[in-house]
Amino acid sequence: MLNNRITKLERLLEISKNLSSIHDLNTLLQHIVEVACDLIQSEASSILLYDPSTHTLEFVAAPWFQLDKLKNIRVPIDSSIAGWVYTHAEPITIDNVKADKRFYSKIDKLIQYKTNNMVAVPLMLRETPIGVLEGVNKTNGDTFTDEDIYLLSILASHAAVAIQNSQLLTRFQKANEELSELDKQKSNFIAIASHELRTPLGVILGHATYLSELVDDEFKPHIEAILNNAEKLKQIIEDLGNMDNLESGKARLRLNNIDLGKLLQQVLQKYYPAAQQKDIAIKSSLPATGVLIFADEQKLGIALSNIIKNAITFTNPGGKIFINHQMMEDKIRLSIIDTGIGIPESDLERIFDRFYQVEGHLTRRYGGMGLGLSVAKLNIELHGGRIWAESVLGKGSNFTLELPISPSPDANLSIGV
Ligand code: ADP
Repeated sequence: MLNNRITKLERLLEISKNLSSIHDLNTLLQHIVEVACDLIQSEASSILLYDPSTHTLEFVAAPWFQLDKLKNIRVPIDSSIAGWVYTHAEPITIDNVKADKRFYSKIDKLIQYKTNNMVAVPLMLRETPIGVLEGVNKTNGDTFTDEDIYLLSILASHAAVAIQNSQLLTRFQKANEELSELDKQKSNFIAIASHELRTPLGVILGHATYLSELVDDEFKPHIEAILNNAEKLKQIIEDLGNMDNLESGKARLRLNNIDLGKLLQQVLQKYYPAAQQKDIAIKSSLPATGVLIFADEQKLGIALSNIIKNAITFTNPGGKIFINHQMMEDKIRLSIIDTGIGIPESDLERIFDRFYQVEGHLTRRYGGMGLGLSVAKLNIELHGGRIWAESVLGKGSNFTLELPISPSPDANLSIGV
């Protein structure tokens, strides 16, 4: 007797280990009913799940030769033994089903079967019943015992966990599909908007430039305002376009031997007026010429521009910006350090996400679209490099980028174009 019990428990343990390797829910539930028959020595076993839309139980696993017919049957909750187990969330053994008023005899008729005795346990998910696991007709002419309830309950908890995992997976996949669809729509919108805005903006810039040479001094400030703001719009559209190209994988590197010091000077030149206006001093350790790297000048220029522009934007008047370089064996590191407002630690990870800004759009004091750093990161990663930020709130930030001196051959590139 004891030996028999130990053998069954060992079997159960073995089965439990195997069950976790079955990932398809139907296969797993089907396996559970087969194992149940074997362990409790029943002719048949089945799993029924509650369907809230019909307020009935439906068969999801049963002996293969009965499953097709059983799948079409809806078992009423209030006039069946399975329904009683489900509503009471309690197990049951019945020695003679014919004598039990709850027995739903229609199933036997439909599948031409004769049920004599039964055992059934609820499938519980976080203390709520979701269905029933049952066994019918003990094979050796006996009736079902508490031991059978115990064995079935363990199998039922496996089934419940598998069902929960599968429901979570389905929900997760659905949410993922919805997100991808939204992302696709956003990308399409960005691609179309940046393309459609570029043409009229070019016309505005062209005409404004032409007019700026013709108008009297009195009107010049107005034309200047149009030109300045049209330039800002152009920058935004370029950022959006760059973002779209990079994200959709359309972007290609055009690699050439470039002088990093020269490129940095060009970028700094562009931002000196803004830095001067705020009395921000910029110091760089990178020699003005002589540090060569094999890179895409335009993309690297955009990345550097975005980081330096931010350093100026988020540093208060009178602050400082240091650009430090460090040569490594096959890499170069550039750190752009400012004495600005800093970034809260909780935001550090997210500032490289698209459209992310530390200050909410309603309260923020600084302009921008939250695209600069994501474009910089994608450009740097396209080179096989990486970028990260460190910061102390109220003291300043340090953006470090690490670039291979020669990108690896599998980088997405064309050479010398
Ligand atoms: P934006 O173009 O709006 O500045 P970015 O992607 O370049 O967008 O930067 C995202 C956010 O990261 C900024 O809105 C700002 O909150 C924060 N940030 C970036 N650089 C700095 C910096 N040097 N100092 C403080 N905050 C910064």
